[in-house]
Amino acid sequence: MLTCPGCGHSGDGGRGESAFDYLGRDGLVEVRRCQSCGAGLLVRFTLLPTEAHAEVIPEEAWQEMQAAR
Ligand SMILES: [Zn+2]
Repeated sequence: MLTCPGCGHSGDGGRGESAFDYLGRDGLVEVRRCQSCGAGLLVRFTLLPTEAHAEVIPEEAWQEMQAAR
């Protein structure tokens, strides 16, 4: 289960799902984009695959990350 802290949009957090775009990963952290509000999220998965902790990427850093792709 993955929930966007910004808008409350939620999905199952799987790679193939459409609620959050999968942009890549950095170590244990996945970079996702909320389809609802467009916010960048850093997602940390816990040992329980059903639980994920999402953190909003600050707007400025997010713009840079998107520009770099
Ligand atoms: Zn959102």
